[in-house]
Amino acid sequence: MSLFVDPDRCAGHGACVATCPAVFGFTDDGFAEVLVATVPDDLAGFVDQSIRHCPEQAIRTADPAE
Ligand code: SF4
Repeated sequence: MSLFVDPDRCAGHGACVATCPAVFGFTDDGFAEVLVATVPDDLAGFVDQSIRHCPEQAIRTADPAE
């Protein structure tokens, strides 16, 4: 699974960073960014939780094969 944060939706709440800091971090502007090219299998549950709890629905999954 690969991920991206929609910059038009992210409001910088940081819930994703708190839930899964190995995958999400903050840009210099205070918005979220994805730190990894692909999500390690052992973090998939935390990422799913981050996606579901993002207040702005800003976290999207992308299939690298598409
Ligand atoms: S939880 Fe959503 S809105 Fe908040 S920082 Fe993460 S991606 Fe942005």
